[in-house]
Amino acid sequence: MRLTLTLSAALLAAQTALATPFSDSVLQHTEELRHHAMVSHQSWQILESLTTEVGPRLPGTDGDKRAVAWAKQTLNELGFDRVYAEPVTVPHWHRGHAKASITAPFPQPLVISALGNSIGTPTAGVEADVVAFADLQQLIDAPRADVEGKIVFIDNKMERYRDGRGYGPVVKARGKGAVEAARKGAVAMMLRSVGTDSHRFAHTGMMRYADGVTQIPAAALSNPDADQLARMLKRSQPVRVNLQLGSEDRGPQTSYNVIAEITGSHYPDEIVLIGAHLDSWDEGTGALDDGAGVAIVTAAAKHILERGKRPQRTIRVVLFAAEEVGLVGAKAYKAAHQQELDKFYIAAEADFGAGPIYRLDSRVNDSALPMMDQVATLLAPLGVARGGNTSWGGPDVSILPEAGVPVAGLALDGTDYFDFHHTADDTLDKVDPEALRQSTAVYTLYAWLMANAQQPLRPIPPVE
Ligand SMILES: [Zn+2]
Repeated sequence: MRLTLTLSAALLAAQTALATPFSDSVLQHTEELRHHAMVSHQSWQILESLTTEVGPRLPGTDGDKRAVAWAKQTLNELGFDRVYAEPVTVPHWHRGHAKASITAPFPQPLVISALGNSIGTPTAGVEADVVAFADLQQLIDAPRADVEGKIVFIDNKMERYRDGRGYGPVVKARGKGAVEAARKGAVAMMLRSVGTDSHRFAHTGMMRYADGVTQIPAAALSNPDADQLARMLKRSQPVRVNLQLGSEDRGPQTSYNVIAEITGSHYPDEIVLIGAHLDSWDEGTGALDDGAGVAIVTAAAKHILERGKRPQRTIRVVLFAAEEVGLVGAKAYKAAHQQELDKFYIAAEADFGAGPIYRLDSRVNDSALPMMDQVATLLAPLGVARGGNTSWGGPDVSILPEAGVPVAGLALDGTDYFDFHHTADDTLDKVDPEALRQSTAVYTLYAWLMANAQQPLRPIPPVE
C-alpha cells in the first residue's frame, strides 16, 4: 500500500530540502486539502452528471451544445469567481449508419465503426476484394497493381502499456491510411481498431484527407473481426467485403471553450491552467475520454475554492471544445489568448482516463527542478513519483510550450484505457471511483502548490 507514507513525513522531507519555495501556511493547507480531497465525492458527481445528463457530445451536434450548457450551469453552481465561454468554429461530422459484411467466400457480418471525418458510400455500399497490409509503411511501399480497385485492410495490432506508448505507432494508419490507399487507387480503407481489447466494439477516431487525393470511405474493424478477416485471407482465395457508411460532413457550427476561474489573491493576472476536453466521440458517453478529465480538473478547483484559502495566482479551469477532431478548441484558445500567454505560470491537461496518477512530469527551467521535485515529494503520499522534464502537458496544452509556456504532465495510469477508448464501451461503469478520487486529489494539490509557488519556471527547455 503506497499511501501509508504520511503527508507529515513528506512535509518534513519537503521542508528540510533546501530553501523551500512554499510557505509553512501553504504546506499546512496542502495537508488539509489532501484530507478533504481523499473523502470527497465531487469528481464522481460531476462525471455522473455529465455522462448521464449529456451523454455523447460530438463537436457540432446537439449533444455538444447541451454539453456547453451543462458546463456553464455546473461551473456557475459550483460558485467559481468567473465563468465564461469563448466561441470556437468546429466541424460537424455526422456518423450515420455503418455496416460491413464479408460477401465471399464465407459470407458473414463484420462489426465496424466509421472513422471520424470519413465520407459515406453509395447506398448499395462499396464492394471489392480485400488486400491486407501489416502496417501503414507496408501499404506505402506496395506496388499500385496490388491495391488498385481493392479495399485496403491495415492489420496493425496495438501493444498495451501503462503510459499508452503503443498508441502513436499504430494511430498513424488511422489518420493517413485512407490517403495512402487512395493514392494507389483503393476504393475504401479499413483498419484493425486502434485498441488493446478483444471485445466486439470497434474504435472510432479521427482520419484525414489530403488535397488532390481522391476521398475514399474509412472504417475500423473490432479486433475479433480483424482476426476473422485475417484468418480468411490466409486461405488463398479472394475475400470480398461490402462496406456501407452513411457519414457526411454537415458544415461548420459554433461551439465553445468553457472556462472557470478562482481569482488569485496576489497575482491575479498569472495563470495556473488546468484543462480537459468537453467534447467526446459519439459511440459511448465519453466517460473516460474525457469526462473523467473534466471531472478531475473541475473538482480539483472546487476543492481549493471550498476550503476558503485563496491561491496567490489565478487557477483557470479550461474545458476545451472539439479536441477529438484536431485540437480545434485549443488552437482557438491559444489564438484568442496570445497577448497573455507570457503570464501563464504553468499548464496541464487531464485527458487519459480516470487514473490513478502515478508520476509528475514537467517542462520547466532547470533552476526550478528542485521545486518540482518538492512538489513530487508532497504528492508522494498519494502514490505519485517524480518523472522527467520533457513533458508535453497533454493534447490541448501541447501547443503552449512552443509559445514558451511551462507545462506539467500528471501521468494517469492508462493500462486499460485503450480497451475502451473511442468505443461504445466508454461508459461510466468503466471508471474506478477510487482512482478518480486519487487523480482529483493529485490535481487539487498540484494546482494549489503551483498557484502559490515562489519561483519562476521560465525560460523552458526548447521543444524538440
Ligand atoms: Zn481525449
